[in-house]
Formats: sequence, C-alpha cells, structure tokens
Amino acid sequence: RYPVICIDGPSGAGKGTVTWRLAQALDYQLLDSGALYRIVGLKAFEAGLVTADTSQVIDEMAVLKLTQSLEIAFVPNNASGRVDILVNDEAVGEQVRNETVGGYASQIAIFPKVREALLKLQQDMATRSGLVADGRDMGTIVFPNADVKVFLTASAEARAERRVAQLLNAGQTADFDAILTTIKARDDRDENRSTAPSKPAEDALLLDSSILDADTVYEQVKKHCQT
Ligand code: C5P
Repeated sequence: RYPVICIDGPSGAGKGTVTWRLAQALDYQLLDSGALYRIVGLKAFEAGLVTADTSQVIDEMAVLKLTQSLEIAFVPNNASGRVDILVNDEAVGEQVRNETVGGYASQIAIFPKVREALLKLQQDMATRSGLVADGRDMGTIVFPNADVKVFLTASAEARAERRVAQLLNAGQTADFDAILTTIKARDDRDENRSTAPSKPAEDALLLDSSILDADTVYEQVKKHCQT
C-alpha cells in the first residue's frame, strides 16, 4: 500500500499550494478532488441542471447520470509539470477554476449518489504511487486510513483578502464584500450538508493559516509528515 497524505479544508486556505509543494518534494501524485466536483458542476450548468440560483431544486438523478457519462482521467504533464484533467478525452482548461463554477460544484456536491460515483476514481489514485489529496472529505471518507491528515483553515475574511489580492494581481477588479459573502455561502453549504460535510478527521492536525504565510504552512505540514 502506498502512503497517502490528506489536506482538507475550505477554499482559499492554501491547500492547493501545500498539496502541490508536497507532491513535488515527495514525488507523489496529486489528487485535486475539488476539480472533479467542479467538472461535474460545470457540465451540470451546461446541461441546464444547475444555475446560480441556489434556491432552485436540482434533479439529483439527472446529475448522477451526467456524472456517470463522464470519463475523467488525470494525466501527468511532464512539460508543464502539472496534472492535466481530461474529460471524455478532452482537456479541461482553467474555466473550471473560477468562483462561479465553485458555486455550481458545491451545489451538486451535496448529493450522496454523485459523491459515490466519484469515490472509486479518487481511491484508485492511491493504488499506483504515493498520493497527496486535496479536498473536503479526503481524511474522513475517501482515505480514512491515510498516513497523514491535515485540516487547513483560515478565517473567511483572510481568505477573501487573499482572493481580492489574487484578482487585483491578475489585473481584474475585486469587491471584498461580495467575495466574502460568496465564500461564506459556499462554506455554509459544504459544512452543513448531510453527506461528507467539510470537517476535520478526528486524527487530523488542525492548522489555521489566517496569519501564516505559505512557506510557514508548508514547513509545518512537512514537519507533521515526518513525525
Ligand atoms: O476545493 P475546491 O474549491 O476546488 O472545491 C469546489 C467545491 O467542490 C467545494 O466547495 C465543495 O462543495 C466540493 N468538494 C467536495 N469534496 C471534495 C472537494 C470539493 O464536496 N473533496
């Protein structure tokens, strides 16, 4: 059995950076489980099953069928040094990364059958090599026997500030209050759903990155992996 490291927590807490750096340093594969939910969220939006209106009732069975119709593959890209995601043999670009798609993802992520349909694909990734897995339920549901579990949090305000800085950096405009509201709404859906709610595993190291920089977070997680 190969070693598994789980990095769970809300979006914007810095999971992506830690996960990437650990995978590089240890030469492990990387599982970005959020990307799976984002892909299903985007496809469900394109199929008219999900909208930005979160009060709308979503057809769970239709989203399940759509999920089952997707052939999703993670392919290491040696040229870019990243993992490409292929859906039905087509590369998924950066369009799944925005907050709108994050919102669709969190709407379809409440469905137990949809989560179940994505479970094996995630668990299979730990059968080929060491794995660093980024998500909400890596340590609780997907890899309960993982070797290392970390739950990385940060206040919603700190995460909103980081998001604003990122957008401004990319030459875009950013409205702090609107971003904070969106972050809190997504947290609320992820933490309060009945299936696989976002929460720390009992044996997870809790780390609050609100006042820590990325290097410090990485060093602390690395130290924890060595203990
Ligand atoms: O981590 P990321 O922001 O990419 O995740 C997008 C959404 O996908 C989350 O807000 C959550 O609703 C869902 N998700 C999940 N379980 C995971 C990873 C993501 O429910 N393991």
